[in-house]
Amino acid sequence: MTTIRTFAACAAGLLLAPVILAEGPARAEDPKIRVLIIDGQNNHNWKDTTPILKADLEHSGRFTVDVATTPPRKAAKAEWDSFKPDFSHYDVIMSNYNGEPWPAPVQKGLEAYVAKGGGLAIVHAANNAFENWPAYNQMIGLGWRGPGFGERVTIDDEGKIVRTPKGKGPGSGHGPPHAYVIKIRDAEHPITRGMPPEWMHAKDELYHGQRGPAEHMHILASAYSDKTRGGTGTNEPMIWVIPYGKGRVFTTVMGHAMGNDATAMHCIGFKSVVLRGTEWAATGKVTIPLPANFPTATSVRRDDAPGN
Ligand code: ZN
Repeated sequence: MTTIRTFAACAAGLLLAPVILAEGPARAEDPKIRVLIIDGQNNHNWKDTTPILKADLEHSGRFTVDVATTPPRKAAKAEWDSFKPDFSHYDVIMSNYNGEPWPAPVQKGLEAYVAKGGGLAIVHAANNAFENWPAYNQMIGLGWRGPGFGERVTIDDEGKIVRTPKGKGPGSGHGPPHAYVIKIRDAEHPITRGMPPEWMHAKDELYHGQRGPAEHMHILASAYSDKTRGGTGTNEPMIWVIPYGKGRVFTTVMGHAMGNDATAMHCIGFKSVVLRGTEWAATGKVTIPLPANFPTATSVRRDDAPGN
């Protein structure tokens, strides 16, 4: 809050004590969304990918971003005991983490935070994590799991949801990375509204056979997993949302990066999905517009500049 200092004068013209008057509303009309990215362990190069995510979020002008980094693998218990992110300071938590289990208090803290209305954004391999954390599986709906873990969810040629029971069909995997078409399955959802019905995503892993409880799962977009590309011959979910208590969870399995190749993360479509998904997880609304150079049905569009 900014203040204006004025002086009130009495009839005799003598100055009295200063009076503090408020100027305007206490907060701006559209306060920035506070994001906490968690990283520290991943089978991907999180030291390079977190800065890309952070720059994209900040460059949009809609977010402020902090990063909480866990101890490394095989760290001493004392190191883990000092990992105590305060979720209550943030509107949305983004996971760029795929590693060892977090301490129980951190797990319980995230569960309570989302249940009370906090947002959670899951990017790519973050859905590989925490197979033995039941609430996490509820929040993400589908994760990188074996075929016996839970149900598989795909979309048939008529657009109907197909649920395959655990133990049947493939477990999680992907063929060699390639460019593929993202097909929008809900054109009215705030995250996907205005996107072309189909758009070409830059070269990326195409996750298939994701497994989990998949309760209350709402699929926003899919991709056809081509058998000639090491896939399954059906439409696999690429973007979905799930309510958890009063909170919202957004997942995209796009966004592979390895070594210094972050081609998938430089796709303008991917960036829009992450920005809008994160905003929606935080607020339930999307104000971030789609860029004019969004990908088309046949053309990849990428921007490699930091924060673009
Ligand atoms: Zn990957």
